Amino acid sequence: MSDMIRNIFDTHAHYADRAFDEDRDEMLASLPDKGVRYVVLAASSIRDTVENSRLAEKYDYIYCAAGIHPEFADTNPDNYMGTLRDTIRSNPKVRAVGEIGLDYHYEGYNKEKQIRLFEEQLEFASEIDMPVIIHTRDATEDTMNILKKYRPRGVVHCFSGSAETAKEVIKLGMYIGFTGVLTFKNAKKALRALEEVPMDRLLLETDCPYMAPVPFRGKRCDSSMIAYTAEKAAEIKGLPVQELVDITCGNAKRFYGIV
Ligand SMILES: [Zn+2]
Repeated sequence: MSDMIRNIFDTHAHYADRAFDEDRDEMLASLPDKGVRYVVLAASSIRDTVENSRLAEKYDYIYCAAGIHPEFADTNPDNYMGTLRDTIRSNPKVRAVGEIGLDYHYEGYNKEKQIRLFEEQLEFASEIDMPVIIHTRDATEDTMNILKKYRPRGVVHCFSGSAETAKEVIKLGMYIGFTGVLTFKNAKKALRALEEVPMDRLLLETDCPYMAPVPFRGKRCDSSMIAYTAEKAAEIKGLPVQELVDITCGNAKRFYGIV
């Protein structure tokens, strides 16, 4: 890439992940010099929720979310809501509930428990008037039915659905987040979906340490790599890459209430 892309807003990252244990502080201290302006840390568990909040307190440019991923529906402690509430109350940099949703990909998943956990957190977000970050995997129909019922302010992150589903999500007033998947060889479906997303509802994200864009596919991802995802998105949208990054940064600031 020739000129450095600036104003990057990574709307979904996991820097509390153990993949960053060796060099977390070095990495986080270096990102602003690589064009990264803001990062929102998504939470999957109680541990993440607490760790994210600590990292957001430490770094000016970092904000975070608090929430429980469907993968933890079985092991999540009964009193989790108390921790979510306490974290949000004590740290104004917590700006969303998430990531929450449904994941029917894992063997032995418990559909009823996942739906209950999802709905509890949607109700909670609505009660405290916060946006939600939605995770959905192999569960499009149930997820869409629940979103239609609750109509949250939210983003469907790491979007992997069809163009039709993207249209439905947009019709609900929600945002759509795309990762490095856009740059993969088999990304046709995601690129078709991207065509359906109006520029004012588009968010960029890494989902790091996962989903590194080409040419880093399979390696540990970090927020600076969004430049490659943005380049692909800009090609589809017919915009200069820096302009696309600026627009998505504005969208993300509006979405997470950052002024
Ligand atoms: Zn995630």
